[in-house]
Amino acid sequence: MIAALRLLLLLLLPTLSQAGVLTLAAAEQVVLPGPFMQVWQDPQKQAGIEDVRRLPDSAWQPVARRDASFGYSGNAYWLRLQLHNPEPRSMDWVLLIANPLLDYLDAYGLDGEQVYRAGDQRPFAARWIEHRQLLLPLSLSAGESRELILRMQTQGSANLSASLMTSAAFDRHEQRMLLLQGLFFGALAAMFVYNLSIFFITRDRDYLWYSLFVASFGGYQFIQLGFALQWLWPQSLAWHQLSFPLSSAVATLFGILFTHGVLDLRHASPRYTQVVRVLLGCTGLVIGLSLFAPYQIALFGGFALVIACAALACLFTLLRWREGYKPARLFAIGWFVLISASLFSILSGTGLIANSLLTLHAQQIGGLIELVVFSIALAARIRQAQKAQQLAQKQLLAQEQQLSVEQARSLGLQRQLNEGLEIRVKERTAELEQALKALSGAHQQLSEQNRRDSLTGLFNRQTLNEELHRSLAQAVRSRRPMAILMMDLDHFKQVNDHYGHLAGDACLRHAAQRLQQRLRAGDLLARFGGEEFVAVLNDTDQTGAHDLAEQLRADLARHPCPYQDQTIGLTISIGVCAGLPDSADSEQLLQQADQALYRAKAAGRNRVESYEASSLDEA
Ligand code: GH3
Ligand code: MG
Ligand code: MG
Repeated sequence: MIAALRLLLLLLLPTLSQAGVLTLAAAEQVVLPGPFMQVWQDPQKQAGIEDVRRLPDSAWQPVARRDASFGYSGNAYWLRLQLHNPEPRSMDWVLLIANPLLDYLDAYGLDGEQVYRAGDQRPFAARWIEHRQLLLPLSLSAGESRELILRMQTQGSANLSASLMTSAAFDRHEQRMLLLQGLFFGALAAMFVYNLSIFFITRDRDYLWYSLFVASFGGYQFIQLGFALQWLWPQSLAWHQLSFPLSSAVATLFGILFTHGVLDLRHASPRYTQVVRVLLGCTGLVIGLSLFAPYQIALFGGFALVIACAALACLFTLLRWREGYKPARLFAIGWFVLISASLFSILSGTGLIANSLLTLHAQQIGGLIELVVFSIALAARIRQAQKAQQLAQKQLLAQEQQLSVEQARSLGLQRQLNEGLEIRVKERTAELEQALKALSGAHQQLSEQNRRDSLTGLFNRQTLNEELHRSLAQAVRSRRPMAILMMDLDHFKQVNDHYGHLAGDACLRHAAQRLQQRLRAGDLLARFGGEEFVAVLNDTDQTGAHDLAEQLRADLARHPCPYQDQTIGLTISIGVCAGLPDSADSEQLLQQADQALYRAKAAGRNRVESYEASSLDEA
């Protein structure tokens, strides 16, 4: 690309002075022989040196520019140069052809009849001086004039890039150049190794693309500057020819991949990615061209690709910058440096600005600065990613804190809920216990009620049976006397008949109450049947029992039952059965008491009668 632009500028520049004899001064400065040269074009590429020597002067055209540059025609160019040594001594000069990619260069008149034949389509060993560039030694004796004829033929840029200098000046120039080239390639190698290592450590592909970009850019420069043919493949001429467009296309490929990564285009608009895909396709095509197509087609394909990629890369960089993507700023600086360095280099080539060490190598220096800036841009992008990660971490932390607050809150809520639940459970338990207590109370009451007669409140017959059994067993065990009173209200049927059943009921209650009043706490009184009662007296002998029965009878006779506004007189007959029991037959006891009662009834009622036997057993 640079070469093409340079050619364009050269063609536009005004022509310099007419060709003449180039007088070689002893001064230590570099002479550009372009303005002193004449050119004859040979499109058929058939003419030999004899044909050329026979050409009339009119056939020759002055080059009339600082450099003999003729573009990409593929023609053979014959150049003629008159040299004169005005010095009184012989002088050694060097004609330096700084375009190592020229296919063929022949030189006549350097050293007697010997013809210099070199170029990158001839084996490296054919060169007179082993040098990456084409180096033509020239020795002029005192006052000598010499005609130098050069034949240049190349499929690339027919650009002679010639300069003349004394051998001593060349030696100094060369030392400086080697130092600079060493620095340049050393820096590239360092950047390559460094970025490749970072790739292996971080596995960030952009570092891989960048290191490969640096490597392929270095390879491209190595080939372009002639080092590759000298040191790597001095015999492989066909490969050398295609290696130049190939290395350019490969560098472009990695440049695209790296730019895509460093500008983070895959996360920007998808249109970028589409364009990048198209460019990658074109790059593949150019790589194919450089391998299989004629050299010139590959060369032009490569130029077009590089121009398109450079323009789009600048555009994308500016767009991304405008989109607020910060690493794009540094990237833009890199591009700016490279473009201005290229312009600088072109301008110095045209002679618009003075040649100096800086201008001669502006492109190389610019390329180096660009690569360093790109490297920094890459690091800045990492910084940006780090910042984004830190932000994300901070957000995550905040979210975690929020979460723990929420958790604590929900835990508190749960605790409150549990406490509430506990209280409710306690309440419910208390309620249940109370209900249970009430229930068991009711149950007790019920079972107590079951033991009693509902009308009089005395024990019922069932209870009497149980209690009598127990008392009897106790009396037998303890050999203590006991007594049973069997009591029956007299003519009670008549009371019912006379006063009614409700009055009868009241009388039954009254009698029960009176009887109960007279009995001791340990005695048991039960309603045996309709108007019949039984008393069980513990620890009571015959006499005691009889006395008590008598008291009961007399008490009831004295206290009639008050009913509404009347009083109902009641009498009772009592049969007593008492003594030391030695069998536990309660039925028998009741029968004996009943017999005594029968006798009391028969004897006229309202009386007490005892069972007629000395011992209960005899009954
Ligand atoms: P006696 O002197 O021979 O014992 O004569 P009595 O009428 O008392 O005997 P009887 O066996 O002929 O009658 C018992 C009466 O007791 C019959 C019945 O109407 C009455 N009676 C039994 N139980 C109840 C009761 O619960 N309430 C009432 N009002 N009367 C009852
Ligand atoms: Mg009766
Ligand atoms: Mg009766």
